[in-house]
Amino acid sequence: MTTHPDTAVWWVKRDFRLSDNEALTSAASHQRLLVIFIAEPSVIEFQDSSAFHWQAQLEAAKNLQLSLRQMGGELFFSMAEAIDAFEAILSVTGHFTLYAHQETGNNLTFERDKSIRAWCKKNNLKFEEKNQNGVVRGPHDREERPAILAQRLLQTIPLPQPTRLPPPPELAGSITRLSNALPQLATCGAQAISAVQLLAGTAVLAEPSRFQQLQELSETSAKTMLQSFLYSRGINYSGGISSPNNAFEFGSRLSTHLAWGTLSLRTVFAANAGRLSELRGQKDRQSARWRKSLTGFQSRLYWHDHFIQRFESACQMEFEALNPAYQTLAYPQSDANLQAWLTGTTGIPLVDACIRCLHNGGFLNFRMRAMLVSVACYGLGLHWKSIQYPLARLFYDYEPGIHFSQIQMQAGVVGINTIRVYNPHKQLIEQDPECKFVRAWVEELSEFNAEQIANYQTQPLGDYPPPPIDFDSTAKLMKDRIFRIRNSEEGKAASQLVLAAYGSRRGTRRYPRTGKPAGNSRRKNVDKTSAQSQHHSTARLQQGNEHRKDQPTDSEQQQFRFDF
Ligand SMILES: Cc1cc2nc3c(=O)[nH]c(=O)nc-3n(C[C@H](O)[C@H](O)[C@H](O)COP(=O)(O)OP(=O)(O)OC[C@H]3O[C@@H](n4cnc5c(N)ncnc54)[C@H](O)[C@@H]3O)c2cc1C
Repeated sequence: MTTHPDTAVWWVKRDFRLSDNEALTSAASHQRLLVIFIAEPSVIEFQDSSAFHWQAQLEAAKNLQLSLRQMGGELFFSMAEAIDAFEAILSVTGHFTLYAHQETGNNLTFERDKSIRAWCKKNNLKFEEKNQNGVVRGPHDREERPAILAQRLLQTIPLPQPTRLPPPPELAGSITRLSNALPQLATCGAQAISAVQLLAGTAVLAEPSRFQQLQELSETSAKTMLQSFLYSRGINYSGGISSPNNAFEFGSRLSTHLAWGTLSLRTVFAANAGRLSELRGQKDRQSARWRKSLTGFQSRLYWHDHFIQRFESACQMEFEALNPAYQTLAYPQSDANLQAWLTGTTGIPLVDACIRCLHNGGFLNFRMRAMLVSVACYGLGLHWKSIQYPLARLFYDYEPGIHFSQIQMQAGVVGINTIRVYNPHKQLIEQDPECKFVRAWVEELSEFNAEQIANYQTQPLGDYPPPPIDFDSTAKLMKDRIFRIRNSEEGKAASQLVLAAYGSRRGTRRYPRTGKPAGNSRRKNVDKTSAQSQHHSTARLQQGNEHRKDQPTDSEQQQFRFDF
């Protein structure tokens, strides 16, 4: 076996970028560098995975490969389980140090990472997982998190891209599983995103035409998107992101870049802070609008880590309600309703438009995503578990930590937020009064005028299906069930524990300007404070009251209301 004592392997996961990438920067300090992206069959075949996600990764990989080549580097691909890929690499390169970012993924990828760690240990290899956000792994005191986050994201400047890359190790001969040819989506076997296959979970490929509406995914397009938001589109962010007619332009549209790592969160924080300081002290109305918008945007950036942290600390959320009081909540659950919801044929115009829009472009604004979950779990009586994976497959920006947390929040099973139940008719009138969005996506309604469409509950609309007759009664049934749990002694006690362990306790202003160094810990299901909270419930109760005062104040978070 030929050995190269100073070889590094950078395992590209959700970090397709050269700038501000600690895993790459550390790996580039070695004499040889092998950069590898692994398309793992088990991950591809898992229920939350779709052709959208593999399209995103292959496009990001293609662009990363071009950038690496310009610096004398290369990106290699392996279509194998990670452990087999690393075995093959080890057999050719000999000893190496493995670098990756610390991923808050689903249970499957978390277990995979654990097995890679064990494999590295067995083979006497170092595996360094670098943080790319403010999320803390393993037992820790949650009071320390703001300082850790500040230290990682606010007080340190983004790393520049390396000026030079070490050459790849000699790979001649025997690595059969490794290639520098970009895999085709067809060979990945990624699951199709057509609605029928969403239900059946069968692996048939999507037509390429579906991908025409997808966002471009590269480091360059991420930076262009960030610039255009901070200097042009972002002025309308405040008040402009609730309607699906405006949000696609006035929202930052950075979620896809953050999810697949073509941009780092720290870069966005830094750029936003820079822009805000340019605006500071300017007295004109335009600057005031900008400041309001970018301050609201900044609070969303904190939510990004807040929700990923929640999942990191409570990864059982993928399988059960975060709040144990809601674990046995019963749903009417109907296959016909699930089918209608997933295919965008419920007879509720705004819901169908949203789902069909997702099928084409994989993107939707926050308000419409929340409405979809609310409609599914209340009016259609669908269990949140039955929609979480299919919806994940439809999101081009799928980020497990945000996704699983938001699904449960919008389904009303977290127990610590005021319950929001979105009425899709009211949302239609408020967010799409001219029915432009609906007519763009629901072809059967394109010939009807806004008034006719708004009367969908009482007037038939040609071939378009009528809305479900039991929608209001099912919503009432679900609300009653949820309130019964919420108001029970058991429900109240469980919610206090959830609040203490996972609730948000601060607005952005609370993040200190100085912080302690980041901890070095591993993920565990319950963080230290959550375990402690069982014994300190009185103190936690007081913090709970504080929490309510500190809820983010922007309008999106204030939609805590019943529309039914
Ligand atoms: C049921 C449901 C599922 C969701 N699943 C995802 C997901 O898989 N991936 C994802 O990135 N977002 C998810 N979101 C959050 C949110 O809808 C999107 O982040 C947002 O719509 C993306 O648009 P934007 O980039 O223009 O956001 P902006 O409003 O410009 O916000 C900037 C960034 O802040 C973060 N952010 C914004 N809103 C939230 C939020 N509510 N929670 C956490 N972070 C937020 C995102 O990274 C976003 O890119 C989900 C929301 C709901 C209700």
